Amino acid sequence: MTQLLEVDGVSVSFDGFKAINNLSFSIGPAELRAVIGPNGAGKTTFMDIVTGKTKPDSGSVLWGARNRSLLKMSESQIARAGVGRKFQRPTVFEDQSVFDNLLMALKKTRGPLGVLFYRPSSEDAGKVRELAGQIGLAGQIDRLSGELSHGQKQWLEIGMLLAQEPRLMLVDEPAAGMTPAEREHTTDLLKRAAASCAVVVVEHDMDFVRRLGCRVTVLHEGSVLAEGSIDHVTSDPQVIDVYLGR
Ligand code: ADP
Repeated sequence: MTQLLEVDGVSVSFDGFKAINNLSFSIGPAELRAVIGPNGAGKTTFMDIVTGKTKPDSGSVLWGARNRSLLKMSESQIARAGVGRKFQRPTVFEDQSVFDNLLMALKKTRGPLGVLFYRPSSEDAGKVRELAGQIGLAGQIDRLSGELSHGQKQWLEIGMLLAQEPRLMLVDEPAAGMTPAEREHTTDLLKRAAASCAVVVVEHDMDFVRRLGCRVTVLHEGSVLAEGSIDHVTSDPQVIDVYLGR
């Protein structure tokens, strides 16, 4: 299968310290992948490289069927090429409704001129309602986002990413601070999202990762330590040693 993203032999140092060390990683279209690893393993730096925030010292990052180099693109070009990122803290517009937050995200897909001359169509309103349903917020669509629970805000933000129809979504600790019921809903949401785009979930919660039921990549000291099913990686002695055994 042709990969959507192929990171090969990437390294990056900060003041002589190798945060990412000869890292290789690939993900196919519509694949769900969990990335785990102890603090300082390089998870954030890895996401920074894929989104173009940090440029590596060596290696390659290729994208799509035409193998375009993401290293030659700016952060905004990479975002336009279809890489979306959700940070750990939700950044929804709290004084706007769920509907308006989703609509605003949808508008962004029209480009700068599209945003300027944007007139909401009934088609877009329908799309927003569909998205709200997809993220489990159909019943909250007219509520102010600031009134939502922590979990609901996270889902709204995932919905805002989905509105932009990414080809790859990087999601940082989506289950942090959630109740068990919210975590379960988040699992379903991410699995459904992975039907239409590749999803990388960076997560600490092993129980959550297990529920995702996807391939897992374990990072350690900026490299891939192990990769495979959750059962495979959690029975790997090296993984137990550096991560689970702590
Ligand atoms: P993780 O997200 O897995 O906790 P990070 O990618 O944040 O790991 O960090 C990997 C390593 O690189 C850590 O040791 C961190 O201190 C270091 N690091 C990350 N960013 C910088 C930076 N801008 N300057 C210096 N060191 C950094």
